[in-house]
Amino acid sequence: MPSPSVENVVIIGTGCAGLTAAIYTARANLNPLVLEGPLPGGQLTTTSEVENFPGFPQGIDGFQLMQNLREQATRFGARFEQALITTVDFTSMPRKLIAADRVVLAKSVIIATGASPRMTGVPGEKELYGGKGVTTCATCDGAFYRKMDVAVIGGGDSAAEEALFLTRFASKVYLVHRRNELRASKIMADRATSHEKIVCVWDSVPVAVEGVEQGAVSGLRIRHVKSGVESVLPVKGVFVAIGHLPNTQPFVPPLDVDENGYFKPLPGSQIQTKVPGVYVAGDCADHVYRQAITAAGMGCAAAIEAERWLAEHGS
Ligand code: NAP
Repeated sequence: MPSPSVENVVIIGTGCAGLTAAIYTARANLNPLVLEGPLPGGQLTTTSEVENFPGFPQGIDGFQLMQNLREQATRFGARFEQALITTVDFTSMPRKLIAADRVVLAKSVIIATGASPRMTGVPGEKELYGGKGVTTCATCDGAFYRKMDVAVIGGGDSAAEEALFLTRFASKVYLVHRRNELRASKIMADRATSHEKIVCVWDSVPVAVEGVEQGAVSGLRIRHVKSGVESVLPVKGVFVAIGHLPNTQPFVPPLDVDENGYFKPLPGSQIQTKVPGVYVAGDCADHVYRQAITAAGMGCAAAIEAERWLAEHGS
């Protein structure tokens, strides 16, 4: 069996960071191989309108934005393949990226694996996830809840955005938050709290999603954190929007992560890891900004660093 060829640069992930790295490395004639995981296009494909990506004064659909980035990378010669990397061997050159059915060899690597939605872990959530009333994506599933009451859990920008999006379909949207003010940016918080269809349920945490026996959500049991009183919101849909967990597990060790699991780059750098020629970019390495544009910026920086590193060490 012929041994696999050694790639100049392999980019893991096809969100904003990965695709921007693909555009830059492809345009630098490095012939990058981009490995696509379980959510091609990344988190923005589950968003509706993106209003804050520079260059789109009227906003742009999240899925369309990712399609555009992909087309741009393909135009310069980036190659895309499906592969879920489960572990790596960075002890020698070339670097080894190991998937269930193959090993990919690379001189340099850009890890842009993003983050996945965090779940509350309350009883009923897992059982009723996916088509049974519990979801993490209003854009994907909101239209199924026409003229119904739904609940959104969380207090950040995602929760505010999900709640506002759901007002297009639902009769009433309960926004359940564990504190008495939203963490979301002022503009989003103001829009959500002043919307006539959104009912803010403050100081409350989910206790259970009800309806497991029937196989469909029939309510969300919540507890008021100050009084301890439990009640049930009579909803048909529960949208979990409590943040994300970085997809860094396959690379740890050898790479370092912080207490929340985000990649910890070398001091003074956002993207450089302790392994020469291996870079990180986007939400897997950024728990502070987590924006499409900052992820794209990190992807760009990682691509330029990889290009420089290959020029010096790549032959
Ligand atoms: P986030 O800002 O981390 O907010 C997570 C929310 O969930 C917080 O309100 C948190 O409560 C709550 N929470 C966390 N764990 C919980 C649990 N176990 N049970 C109940 N509630 C829990 O996450 P995000 O909203 O996904 O936003 C992530 C980043 O993306 C932010 O930087 C945000 O600005 C950005 N973003 C921007 C836009 C936009 O500009 N249009 C849209 C979406 C996201 P506490 O408040 O008490 O911590």
